[in-house]
Amino acid sequence: MESVILQCDDVTVDFDGFKAVQGMNLTLVKGELRFLIGPNGAGKTTMLDVICGKTKPAAGKVLFGKSGGIDITRRKEHQIAELGIGRKFQTPSIFASLTVHENFEIAMKQNRGVFAAMRAKLRKEDGERIAAQLEMVGLAEKSQWRAGGLSHGEKQWLEIGMMLLQEPEILLLDEPVAGMTDNETEKTGELLEEIRKTQSVIVVEHDMEFVRNFASFVTVMHEGKLLKEGSMEDVQRDDRVAEVYLGK
Ligand code: ADP
Repeated sequence: MESVILQCDDVTVDFDGFKAVQGMNLTLVKGELRFLIGPNGAGKTTMLDVICGKTKPAAGKVLFGKSGGIDITRRKEHQIAELGIGRKFQTPSIFASLTVHENFEIAMKQNRGVFAAMRAKLRKEDGERIAAQLEMVGLAEKSQWRAGGLSHGEKQWLEIGMMLLQEPEILLLDEPVAGMTDNETEKTGELLEEIRKTQSVIVVEHDMEFVRNFASFVTVMHEGKLLKEGSMEDVQRDDRVAEVYLGK
């Protein structure tokens, strides 16, 4: 039996009378890599904002966790992050003047809470954990590089690595491969496959070629609503999807 880790029920977001999301449902199971696709303005980013608590819905519920979950709909953004939902925005938020390793050290300390982080010292096991994380995101050889000197793709992996050090149960990624080279995109795909072994991931993505490379479940949104859900093959075969999106 697959265990549900996130459930968005009938979510509606109203921006001064404009409904960016309308009655949207989304259920994520543990270990799933879900792609959220749809044309510009479909409401994808707004859904991520609702899940991480940045935007409060006018109606509907977000439940997080096993066995029915807890209602996080009205929780603050930092509380939701501490509960275990990590959000990565398109622009990486990294410390450009610090080294890759120092960025990871900060993320590791934040894992112990904001106040503990200020006076926290790294423990031996933290060093090992950082080393393993550097390896996983492919930055082990650049651990002493200044983060600002990394390529665009490497900066994205650095930030993903920083998020992973905080051990979220769910990662929300907004167009992680935008602006990447083909090689970086491929590596990011491998990284996502690795991450899904231990975490659940929702990826908002425009790059259909990239999405096609995964045996993954796809959710298509259009005008704030769920248009179709299924495998990429199912989704591509759907006439309505072709009409609004893929057929262009
Ligand atoms: P997508 O990520 O699918 O491109 P978004 O979720 O960013 O779509 O936006 C959905 C719709 O909501 C768009 O029409 C957008 O202009 C609108 N929108 C997004 N954020 C706001 C906001 N803060 N205020 C008003 N309208 C917004």
